[in-house]
Amino acid sequence: MSVDLHEKAKAAAARAYAPYSNYLVGAVVRTRDGREFAGVNVENAAYPLGICAERTAIAKAVSEGYKPGDFEAIGITASPCGGCRQWLYEFGVEAVTFENRNGEIVTYTASSPTSRRRRAAASSGSPTVPSTSSSSPTCRGSRSRSTR
Ligand SMILES: [Zn+2]
Repeated sequence: MSVDLHEKAKAAAARAYAPYSNYLVGAVVRTRDGREFAGVNVENAAYPLGICAERTAIAKAVSEGYKPGDFEAIGITASPCGGCRQWLYEFGVEAVTFENRNGEIVTYTASSPTSRRRRAAASSGSPTVPSTSSSSPTCRGSRSRSTR
């Protein structure tokens, strides 16, 4: 479904600003009217101030006038971290495609660990993004990988 977005995300990842981790992540989000916005992770010496590729892509779209519910799909070169899952859920990104830790390209419906009740009420029957285990690399890169 959004495998093409994953391919575009891989190309975008080359533009990531990740001098601290050297972990390059790309994401491309597609709006319902067919526009695409690419994002990369942008790190900062103060680690929490960095931003993930998914959030960069969504922020670009929002700054162009898009709102929750306007997003059809996103492709990401890494498994989304908890914070990004919350963003994907809040903006209602329908299909989330990323490369899992086994190197497989998988597509899920966005879900949020902090919104289980609302999600259950709006159950679509689609599989939801599985929760991130501590051993799974995410868009947050080296920090989560170093907990292995
Ligand atoms: Zn993230």
